[in-house]
Amino acid sequence: MEYYETIIVGAGPAGSTCARKLAQAGRSVLMLDKATLPRLKPCAGWVTGEVWRDLEVTPGEYPHSLLKLSTRLYIAPFPFALMPWPTRWANYSIRRIEFDQWLVERSGVAVRQHQVNHIDYQNDTYIIDGQLACTYLIGAGGTGCPVRRQFFPRQRPPEDQIVALEKEFYYPDRDGIARYFLFDRGLAGYSWYVPKADGYLNLGLGGFNRYFQSSSLSIHDHFQAFLQDLMGRRLLSPEVADQLRPSGYSYYLASGQGPVKQDRCWLIGDSAGLATLDFGEGISPAIKSGLLAAGEVLGNTVYTRGAIFNRSLRPGWQWLRGLVPRYSGGSGQRREDQPEPLARPNFH
Ligand SMILES: Cc1cc2nc3c(=O)[nH]c(=O)nc-3n(C[C@H](O)[C@H](O)[C@H](O)COP(=O)(O)OP(=O)(O)OC[C@H]3O[C@@H](n4cnc5c(N)ncnc54)[C@H](O)[C@@H]3O)c2cc1C
Repeated sequence: MEYYETIIVGAGPAGSTCARKLAQAGRSVLMLDKATLPRLKPCAGWVTGEVWRDLEVTPGEYPHSLLKLSTRLYIAPFPFALMPWPTRWANYSIRRIEFDQWLVERSGVAVRQHQVNHIDYQNDTYIIDGQLACTYLIGAGGTGCPVRRQFFPRQRPPEDQIVALEKEFYYPDRDGIARYFLFDRGLAGYSWYVPKADGYLNLGLGGFNRYFQSSSLSIHDHFQAFLQDLMGRRLLSPEVADQLRPSGYSYYLASGQGPVKQDRCWLIGDSAGLATLDFGEGISPAIKSGLLAAGEVLGNTVYTRGAIFNRSLRPGWQWLRGLVPRYSGGSGQRREDQPEPLARPNFH
């Protein structure tokens, strides 16, 4: 049996940030990830100045291309941009395939390709799939994290579940302005048009799962309508729109419920459900929680849900969230008189 003081399940932003801090303190640590790195992660790749601060780098020191975003915010039913982006920090776009790999490399910690299936806890030791042992265990495996499933069995509140569709592609004709469209066609969420450096573009749409369950429009209907709108605004060509096949993913907002620690085990990032309540921003909370959990292992910080901010909007702008359309989400059943949804996305 191989032993490490700490094993981190998941090498996303949460896991690799935690790993780096432990390695800097000279601790023995291993990351496990089911994917072969570098891996794709459905994500708009919008990061704030706070992310760079927490990572202790300036945007100029980031070794890959990034774009400082000029942003526009649209609130339905108004067809024009109402105001600049009312978040607390400057905004940037990164490509997750580069960003996550960079975080792994700078951590200086090895990542082993291993899908974690079963974990035992005996005599103060965690044993992973009968092969690997550790004293401290960090669950950083995203929404479907096996550490959460096994040691934090409490159900996550369904009203906090977000589902999203996203596509990133090379589109040199894109312009350099990021656009966010809130509540379009009654969507309890928003769609985005986020330009990336080097001619890439990320399009996507996310909203409350309960909204989609009770709405006459499925998430795919909304995505198609969004593409139509972009074509109408001459932001996307019909040939490219026709080819787009988005990926689906689901995650949870920071409801403030449920423990993030048990015995010598912590949940960080999406496995804990930490994305901000207003814009579903998850990268920054993942990084912060990774740092705090590492601090707990090292015995010099306290990690609680309350220590992670749960709002992206500046104070004074919280009324925006109050505009989220109401939806009857109690049963999760579609009403009989509503059309069938388009093909269901494959949410991981
Ligand atoms: C469509 C979409 C758009 C988004 N846009 C933004 C945005 O613009 N800005 C923002 O801040 N946030 C955004 N988010 C949220 C953000 O992507 C997440 O909050 C963030 O990736 C969480 O990081 P993490 O490290 O917790 O998890 P992840 O990045 O999901 O990493 C988890 C890792 O765990 C691994 N893993 C999973 N299961 C196992 C297993 N059994 N064994 C081993 N390894 C496993 C996975 O392979 C993965 O590498 C978006 C989310 C979605 C779905």
